[in-house]
Amino acid sequence: MPIIAQHKWSWCSKCEGLFYSGSSAGLGHCPAGGTHTKTGSGDYALFAETQPAGFPANVMAQSNWHWCSQCGCLWIPTSALPKGCCPCPAAGSKGHTSAGSGNYTLLAEP
Ligand SMILES: [Zn+2]
Ligand SMILES: [Zn+2]
Repeated sequence: MPIIAQHKWSWCSKCEGLFYSGSSAGLGHCPAGGTHTKTGSGDYALFAETQPAGFPANVMAQSNWHWCSQCGCLWIPTSALPKGCCPCPAAGSKGHTSAGSGNYTLLAEP
């Protein structure tokens, strides 16, 4: 089974966050103001599969990361802060959204 990855994830030098720069909606909302910037960033790829079946069993990974279509950032819901804190002005107190997002997996240190 192939390992599926999605590139065009970028580091923003304004907020130091990871955001998706390939969205047709643009570069999102940066908590530092305006849109995120990919200037100086590499092109990062995330695993875009819930359970990366192609991984060896001894590889540690964490799934359930999501793209927020409002601000463009990568985020993960936790029980303490289920929707996080979204810098998009339209989000208000509703936090990030996972609508339209895939389920991303990051490799984790054991
Ligand atoms: Zn930013
Ligand atoms: Zn957001």
